[in-house]
Amino acid sequence: MCFRPVTVKKREVKCVKCEQMNPLPLSVESALSEIWATENGKAILEKHCSAMTNDPRFKSAMNMTLKQVRPMSQGKITQEIYDLVAKELDQLPKAGCKNCGEVLPAA
Ligand SMILES: [Zn+2]
Repeated sequence: MCFRPVTVKKREVKCVKCEQMNPLPLSVESALSEIWATENGKAILEKHCSAMTNDPRFKSAMNMTLKQVRPMSQGKITQEIYDLVAKELDQLPKAGCKNCGEVLPAA
């Protein structure tokens, strides 16, 4: 069997002030591992996608995005849940540039 890991391309945004590369704010386009690594993101996933986060296969889906995982969730992640997660991730406070604190441009 050939297992080809799904790669999520690195999503970064350049600070307009100091040109430091910063990770993009979390969204449904973020790898689950990126979302899971933050307290706020983890809380959102646990609240809406407990069927997924409690699944033993969740760990192997960590490098995928919610969008990629949804069709494989056997209906556990409905469009409604997906939209809710997208909305809540979008409402999280946006971090500024890690170097100079400048507000980062939207992707
Ligand atoms: Zn900066």
